[in-house]
Amino acid sequence: MHYLDNAATTLVPEEVIAAMAETLRHHSGNPSSQYPYGQDGKAVAEKGRETIARALGCPKERLFFTSCGTESDVWAIRGAVWHGRHRGKHIVTTAVEHSAVLESCRWLESEGYQVTYLKPDSTGMISARQVLDAVRADTVLVSMMLVNNETGCVFPVAETARLLREAGSAALLHCDAVQGFLKVPCDPAGWGVDLMSLSGHKLGGPKGIGALYISPGLRNFRPLLPGGGQEMGLRSGTEATAQIAGFAKAVELRMENYDEKLRHMADMKALCREKLLTIPGMVTVGGGTAPHILAMSLPGYPSGNIVSDLGSRGICISAGSACHKGKSSHVVSALGLPKRTAAGVIRISFAPETSPEDIQALYEALRSHQAERCGML
Ligand code: PLP
Repeated sequence: MHYLDNAATTLVPEEVIAAMAETLRHHSGNPSSQYPYGQDGKAVAEKGRETIARALGCPKERLFFTSCGTESDVWAIRGAVWHGRHRGKHIVTTAVEHSAVLESCRWLESEGYQVTYLKPDSTGMISARQVLDAVRADTVLVSMMLVNNETGCVFPVAETARLLREAGSAALLHCDAVQGFLKVPCDPAGWGVDLMSLSGHKLGGPKGIGALYISPGLRNFRPLLPGGGQEMGLRSGTEATAQIAGFAKAVELRMENYDEKLRHMADMKALCREKLLTIPGMVTVGGGTAPHILAMSLPGYPSGNIVSDLGSRGICISAGSACHKGKSSHVVSALGLPKRTAAGVIRISFAPETSPEDIQALYEALRSHQAERCGML
């Protein structure tokens, strides 16, 4: 198999599997239990929190485990609007956020909120100035992702935080950093971001674990799940110790030779783009600069067909224009591409393990697909 769909999820390294197995086998007590076997489990969770917080550059007391990036996004948004409930009912976000953010905003619209969805330019970018121009006195939340999951565009979150601060806005700033953490600079505490969502399975961790950073200024942030008072009283539910151990081990592995890993992903992306651009008709989509995500299109060749044909040849990539009954994804639609280009958008995404052989295999499979399908156009 040639796995080139690392923005969807990543393969789980053996070391992560071993850390999870070790936790399940030997430290599986309930962290709330007071005897040593329970306290062992607590130690695993706290050590994991420390590892991830260190990589994020925040105090470990401000990092709260959740079950996934989606849960972190939903918690951040619901908590932020509750926090600002006496000030206003306006939200600013982008039209290209993950559906966890967009669907939360749509639900809030049905509850009487007004939401401004900022449109990207043709390269997929949103500027900090666009955000600031949309912010009003009654804006309670700005939600802007760090890296777009389909184009790889890196949004100016640090600059947005600075402009909001300089303008004296009281709106909270939430950043969905699910695709950005450990791929591009990410410093919520230093930037002055209030809330940041993370997910374990985008960087070698298991599925089913995420985290939310809540800034020290938000002392009374609204709890997500009432109950036994785990996660410092904000998110009850017995801690998923094995998932936490796996997430932390994955972060630890990504931190080893960090710069080299980023350079390797960027090199693989550059190689892939160069190689695929030799295929007649192939074009680059958007101007994404994240090292691990590349969007391209083969106009006239529907991406759904490409993905399933390549899948049967052992090559895993995604359709940028997800095949929801032939309709483009909301991200591809927002780019305003010609119809045939939009229908052919594919996403190739890289990991530190990606090799030139994976890219050669992708290239050959795309050439075969093109050769076999040209009669059908
Ligand atoms: N946000 C972004 C930008 C994502 O790409 C994803 C997953 O694809 C999510 C949120 C949701 O994360 P999870 O799968 O952990 O719920």
